[in-house]
Amino acid sequence: MASGGRPDDVLDELEVQARWFGGEYGREFKGTEGERIEVVQFGHWNRGAGPDFTEAALRVNGELRRGSVEVDLDVRNWDRHGHASNPAFNGTVLHVFADLPASKRVFTRTEANGHVVQLLLPQYSGLHGPPDFLPEAFPGRCLAPLARMQVDEVESLLLAAAQYRLRRKGERLQVMSGATSAEQALFQALAEALGFRHNKTAMAVLAQRCPVRELLAMEAPLREARLFGAAGFLDASIGSMARTAEARDYLRELWDHWWRIRPDVETSPHRAIHWRHDGTRPLNHPQRRLGALVSLLGHWDDLREWWEKPVNNFPKVVNKWSKSLSHPYWNRHYSLASEATPKPFRLLGKDRLRDILGNVIFPGAIRVSPDRWDDYTRLGRVDSNQKLRRAVMRLFGSDRERQKLFTRYYHQQQGLLQIYEDFCLEDASDCRSCPFPEQLLQWKKVAQSDGFVPIGEGGLKNV
Ligand code: SF4
Repeated sequence: MASGGRPDDVLDELEVQARWFGGEYGREFKGTEGERIEVVQFGHWNRGAGPDFTEAALRVNGELRRGSVEVDLDVRNWDRHGHASNPAFNGTVLHVFADLPASKRVFTRTEANGHVVQLLLPQYSGLHGPPDFLPEAFPGRCLAPLARMQVDEVESLLLAAAQYRLRRKGERLQVMSGATSAEQALFQALAEALGFRHNKTAMAVLAQRCPVRELLAMEAPLREARLFGAAGFLDASIGSMARTAEARDYLRELWDHWWRIRPDVETSPHRAIHWRHDGTRPLNHPQRRLGALVSLLGHWDDLREWWEKPVNNFPKVVNKWSKSLSHPYWNRHYSLASEATPKPFRLLGKDRLRDILGNVIFPGAIRVSPDRWDDYTRLGRVDSNQKLRRAVMRLFGSDRERQKLFTRYYHQQQGLLQIYEDFCLEDASDCRSCPFPEQLLQWKKVAQSDGFVPIGEGGLKNV
């Protein structure tokens, strides 16, 4: 066995990853092919599926490469763990490992047949034992100037970033409306919002394959079967899925309608929609989300009206309305194969509803009535996600008070996401060349003279 000099007794994978991220192995290396490798930025811990670190930046023989980094104990773990056939690893730019076989050369290749640069870790001489705390991201260079800004200055910055983001979303919907129809754009946007992070694209494809005009022209049971069938959730084996009499009846009804239209609308297997179930809570199971979409279609006129003629105190009205959304099966099931839950639960929970308001209804409504902006800024926060946690850590560090203060509302979370996408995700210099800290000084001056600062094309980058 050739070895990277690992202390045999103590290393485990998490420890190697933590030491890598903490910079304990250094930043400059020689790859297995003799490449000069410099780590410009270590990126972020990936808490979901896929490579260990995302948004990393490296120089390989002087050429800048951005992507993900996978850290394993042994080079062979890449194949053993199925990364070579997993498209989620296609963006990997570096495979780091502490060990490799002496007699056999093992390459790291992606599912797209890309060659990944390999790095055998050098002799490690640090203290044993993993660090107690593994931060998901490191505070950025903008932390200090932001900490010196008054609360209302930071608030005006987030408001402006959120306003820009909302406008961009509105423009996207407008373009989609122009290319298809306002109704189809609304339908696709609702489907995407229900798909949440993991199944957003899958839901968008489904909405495109089942145009809303066709669906609305159908009887409700046929419409439901059309959606579940096109999603690929119905096949001849569905009878064996059912665990309850209720599920059997529901599946039989879906199947009875589906088999009649199936020959005309079913796509070939290689065009099947790929649904992700990993990392999703039972409540977010794609089948249940589709059940919610079906239910929204049953109230289509209300949705259209709000989109085109917004009412006062939107969130309250929509929240009340959403409580009436109901479905005899999906009120008490997580999926087509789940047991019934003891109690019924809402088809659209608080977070999903806020996301539908923030991502679909408000971007459309504010185009028609800009005075809806105040309603939007009163929309409460949604559960945090990986991007948001990273943004908060990078911009506010461990200042709990500011973390809380600036994530209480939906618009603040959206503003943070916009800054993260515009600056952190664009940066490949570990903050060194990011213009945001300097722009903050500029922002302070403008905000002090004018109060709230609406921003133009290009967002905060052009301030
Ligand atoms: S990349 Fe820019 S915005 Fe992001 S943490 Fe670094 S300095 Fe801040």
